Amino acid sequence: MPWENFKEEEFACKHCGKNGISHELINKLQSLRTELGFPFIITSGYRCEEHPIEARKKTPGTHAEGLAADVYVRGSKALNIVSRAKDYGFTGVGVNQKGDARFIHLDISEEKQDRPRPHIWSYWWTTLFYFGTRLSLSFMFLLYTASAQTLLMSKGLKYWLIKQEKKYLHATLPNKTCI
Ligand SMILES: [Zn+2]
Repeated sequence: MPWENFKEEEFACKHCGKNGISHELINKLQSLRTELGFPFIITSGYRCEEHPIEARKKTPGTHAEGLAADVYVRGSKALNIVSRAKDYGFTGVGVNQKGDARFIHLDISEEKQDRPRPHIWSYWWTTLFYFGTRLSLSFMFLLYTASAQTLLMSKGLKYWLIKQEKKYLHATLPNKTCI
């Protein structure tokens, strides 16, 4: 299905490329985007259950159901999205407006156990998570480099660390293909 301002690929899982995004979700995003008139940078759309963020949860969330997208946005644009979201059929609005990883989460989920709808919330863990992951990976890499000459740490660990860092970056950076 063609959309004026979105490509389905923008919503693919950044961990494996699988794409289970709902077309209804993109339809609603397109309508809202058309009204607001500025680009929506999608930082996260569909996330498979093995995606690092979903894997941490007790039960996979709306992203794993293909019903949610995070839009990288701040300031007055973020306020415009939040103000208009309900009128365009979004039932879940998550607000993260602290630090570098600012975004508005929009989803079209129905009410479920432990998932009230319509609902708005803010994230308390994201800043901690983003910076925490970054910091601990850097620290582990430092440790690895410091002890690289010993037999205490394997080459395998180095590649594991690099893989984790890549995964982390893919999971958090905005897509560049935004229209
Ligand atoms: Zn995946």
